[in-house]
Amino acid sequence: MRAVVLDKPGMDNIRVVNVEAPRPGPNEVLIKVRFAGVNPVDYFTINRSGKPMPHIPGAEFSGVIEEFGPNVRGVNVGDEVVVYNRLFDGSCSYCLIGHEELCVNGGLIGVVTNGGFAEYAVVPAINVIRVPRGVSLNEAATLPVGALTAWHMVFDRTGMRAGELVVVLGATGNVGSYAVQFAKLAGATVIAVSRKTVRVKDALMELSADYIVTPEEVQSLVSELSNGLGADLVVDAIGQATWGPSFQLVARHGRWVTAGALTGGDVTLSLSSLYSREVTVIGSTGGTRAGFTKILDILSGRRIKAPIYSKMNLDKVKEAFDAVFKAEDRVGKVLLTPT
Ligand SMILES: [Zn+2]
Repeated sequence: MRAVVLDKPGMDNIRVVNVEAPRPGPNEVLIKVRFAGVNPVDYFTINRSGKPMPHIPGAEFSGVIEEFGPNVRGVNVGDEVVVYNRLFDGSCSYCLIGHEELCVNGGLIGVVTNGGFAEYAVVPAINVIRVPRGVSLNEAATLPVGALTAWHMVFDRTGMRAGELVVVLGATGNVGSYAVQFAKLAGATVIAVSRKTVRVKDALMELSADYIVTPEEVQSLVSELSNGLGADLVVDAIGQATWGPSFQLVARHGRWVTAGALTGGDVTLSLSSLYSREVTVIGSTGGTRAGFTKILDILSGRRIKAPIYSKMNLDKVKEAFDAVFKAEDRVGKVLLTPT
């Protein structure tokens, strides 16, 4: 099968080559991959780590069940599925309360196992979810990293309420484009922040953002809309580069949430600014299986859109990362098409 393979860490070391297709063991399924989302997590995996080595990256993908191993029930050959990408044991104290994303024996498919930048991938049967009627496989491939991370941030971790003023930084990105939609769905007033506002304005309007501004403009808009009080919730997965001004946008008693640190994770926090304003700083990672099925239902009901920027053949994997990080007009997902 064709696959993106690296023998040692580094973007320069990735090759698209023919390798032997994997076979499903007990409790596993073989998926013929149709679409794989390209995310910063894959970039970091390629540059820093990845198991096993040689490694096939790809933490987000959809496809069709090709074969299944012993003890697998509830799936059939030909089923259209999308992969919930958190490995979990189902028995630790976090799994038992429905928080598979925190499993003590967990990890991410495509990071600690081979992933979906290939014609075929093997995953545990418990990680596949059937794609409902009305959702296409290319739309489904945008969900496991992009949408689920946003869902978990906005709903599970911050307890967002209708009527709140929400700021989403990096609004055009894989997570941001869904965070805007989920916050809007929950009844918030949503300010989408992007440094490329002119080129992406129409696309962000389609995702129902109430306001679209540059990082330079956001402070005065928040002040205007809140009578100087600040935002109830700031969603920021950009990290170091935005932290200072982003934290200052939060109102007294407000929340600031992150699920990533694209530009670096080491920041300086003024404790007095934290306690005197009673601000809550919240961490969030991935999401739960329950959240994932809800997102599929909502997309099936067409209450959100699955923004897709482009689809590229597997051979174009480096160009795909260029598009993710550099395309000035990108809103939403870059997908690889292995077959
Ligand atoms: Zn567990």
